[in-house]
Amino acid sequence: MSSSTILTAPAPACHYRITIADVHAHLFHVRLTIAEPLAEQVLSLPVWIPGSYLVREFAKNLQNLRAHQAGRPVALQQQSKQRWQAACQTGQPLVLEYQVYANDPSVRTASLDAQRGFLNGTSLCLRAEGLTEQACLLDIVAPGQLTEQAAWQCATALTPVQTDAQGFGCYQAADYDELADSPVEMGAFWSANFMAAGVSHRLVVAGATPAFDGQRLLQDTQRICETVIAFWHGTEPPPFQNYVFLLNATADGYGGLEHRHSTALIGARKDLPRLGQASTSEGYTTLLGLISHEYFHTWNVKRLRPAEFARYDYHQENYTQLLWFFEGFTSYYDDLLLHRAGLIDDASYLKLLGKTIAQVQQTPGRLLQTVAQASFDAWVKYYRQDENTPNATISYYTKGALVALCLDLTLRQEGQTSLDAVMQALWQRCAGGPMTEADVRAVLLQLAGRSLDAELDTWVHSTAELPVAALLAAHGMEATTEPAPIAQALGLRATDKNGIRVQGVLRGGVAERAGMAAGDEWLGLEVQGQGWRLQQLADVPLYAGNATQVTALVCRGDRLLRVALGLRVADSTSAVGGWKVADSTRATAWLSGH
Ligand SMILES: [Zn+2]
Repeated sequence: MSSSTILTAPAPACHYRITIADVHAHLFHVRLTIAEPLAEQVLSLPVWIPGSYLVREFAKNLQNLRAHQAGRPVALQQQSKQRWQAACQTGQPLVLEYQVYANDPSVRTASLDAQRGFLNGTSLCLRAEGLTEQACLLDIVAPGQLTEQAAWQCATALTPVQTDAQGFGCYQAADYDELADSPVEMGAFWSANFMAAGVSHRLVVAGATPAFDGQRLLQDTQRICETVIAFWHGTEPPPFQNYVFLLNATADGYGGLEHRHSTALIGARKDLPRLGQASTSEGYTTLLGLISHEYFHTWNVKRLRPAEFARYDYHQENYTQLLWFFEGFTSYYDDLLLHRAGLIDDASYLKLLGKTIAQVQQTPGRLLQTVAQASFDAWVKYYRQDENTPNATISYYTKGALVALCLDLTLRQEGQTSLDAVMQALWQRCAGGPMTEADVRAVLLQLAGRSLDAELDTWVHSTAELPVAALLAAHGMEATTEPAPIAQALGLRATDKNGIRVQGVLRGGVAERAGMAAGDEWLGLEVQGQGWRLQQLADVPLYAGNATQVTALVCRGDRLLRVALGLRVADSTSAVGGWKVADSTRATAWLSGH
């Protein structure tokens, strides 16, 4: 038990009490007590969760909302899909009771079954309009024995007020924003603590098997945290008192959501480090990259953030043109800092960078939308992907990362400064708070000794190609070439488990010219009078050989079609396969951050 300050402190404006109503029905029960409601008290639920730029309509999972004061029902008038108004007697606490259906395994909403519970305040906690600036309490009630397994624990980055040894009990948030920004994990999870730059960090892992090497993940995560803190502050401490990683291991999940002093992550169980295995799998590197990415966000987007996010509007889309900076630059540094932390070598880092470069090059939408426009359109494009997405937009993650790379290499080449120094100066200039693109330009001018407006205009606000290859070559890198994969040569994206299914046709490619379409099932190939059943895309060269004209047999809905496919030798010869170090002196200066 921690000290029970709750008994002496004044009653909080809002007190949320969350109980597990029914694990098999995936229902949380919430009781919200508002100590001093307004006469016409408005309650609302967010439509989105900061960090994930999509209107998700969390209210669709809220049910059976009732209100009462001193035991008497209070009339609730629904004003919109996520807004209600209660006609209250002032001077009396208002109590709201409702249930929230929680059955989404992602990090963005809430989840509850007999194995595990997870929740975000944006999904479970109604906003009492007019009172959201005030401190509030969150009570997480311990469940009874749910299964034959070990007892449940509870973890969150919120400040404990009165909690038991398992972490259930009462927590405090400074305001609704902090409540909404502090996810809660419940279950029989693995957990351990470490210190980084004098600050306590907790690592919580749900869903791990007995093979999980927790100590290794703990040590590697600690190295990442120390490297990121040193990146921003040198030997000074970070701007938070505690930090919690909430990692849920699933069969094949991947994703994360950043918060001000915690992060919720999903990783594949097979990618966790295993006892007795010293090697680093590609999957484990990906997981470490995710950890590094979300932790870097603690500075870059949670504190240093778009001026438009100075105050979140939970009721609608919050637009910004700056996701290329906040997601792109974070993506640039996530893997680079793994390298600087000594967790991956030159070759592994360059392989990851090569993948990012290839992804941008294979996205025709880069010639249609600028990365600033793509940021603004995130709500309807990046977060609502369909078969046309690669043709219509560019990822502000991947192209944004390459803008960061180009800036860093340009600054280093001129010898005045580096992107590291720019990030640190931006932090100082904006006092770790809201910023605009003008701030980026001003810091660049100050540190580089010249304006980089022309570069930003071209790289961020036009669709011109980035000078990635020239800059990498100037820093001692050499491109390697290899045959382009068949999907790339044909200009399509497809899955080939249980037959070949076309997922997307890229603008201007062989498949588009032939008239293939997303959704087509590619059944076979006719080459020089012979027909072949096609099981996987990789078999196209096997049957086609040197033929430049073949016929594809495809099934579209209930029609069988014969499609003339012109294979151009030039399309399938070679493409940039990656990058390797050719001049280690020049390469080391950049890769090691000197
Ligand atoms: Zn991110």
